[in-house]
Amino acid sequence: MDMDYKKYIADVPDFPEPGVMFRDISPLMCDGQAYAAATDEIAAYAKSKGTEMIVGPEARGFIVGCPVAYKLGVGFAPARKKGKLPRETVSVTYDLEYGQASLYMQTDAVRPGQKVLVVDDLMATGGTLAATIKLVEELGGIVVGTAFLIELTELGGRDKINEYDMFTLMKY
Ligand code: IMP
Repeated sequence: MDMDYKKYIADVPDFPEPGVMFRDISPLMCDGQAYAAATDEIAAYAKSKGTEMIVGPEARGFIVGCPVAYKLGVGFAPARKKGKLPRETVSVTYDLEYGQASLYMQTDAVRPGQKVLVVDDLMATGGTLAATIKLVEELGGIVVGTAFLIELTELGGRDKINEYDMFTLMKY
């Protein structure tokens, strides 16, 4: 199905700070048909890559990744913020525009050699994606592709991870 996904994205000027145009995916999530169509397209891409496991960063990576995992019949593992995971973890710290952030994964979330698709709602600078890829690879997973609803092209995120295949439904 050819769907005009941008119809379901709310453009919010000056959020979370002046000068930033926030792309809000909530209307897409609230529309059953659009959510299903986006899920189906990412699932078809995931299948073409031989995906055995989906990994998504907190929190909107869960919203995008979990239904794709269900559709494929594969597992989902979260990359979470500090203090959320109860067992042994690996972690990565990365730079944000202001300051730093850390992501964590449990050490048994991905098996060595497992083919992993990394998903999120949106790629901006690519920092979150690069950090999530690093965690998966530290656990021995093989990143077979990456998928997003939205890619913000002007921030050059794609350059940060140019050795990985990328699938996006919308570009701004
Ligand atoms: P990056 O690390 O700079 O690529 O930023 C991507 C992360 O920030 C993702 O996890 C997104 O959920 C979040 N993010 C950044 N900008 C937006 C936006 O305009 N809409 C929704 N999420 C955003």
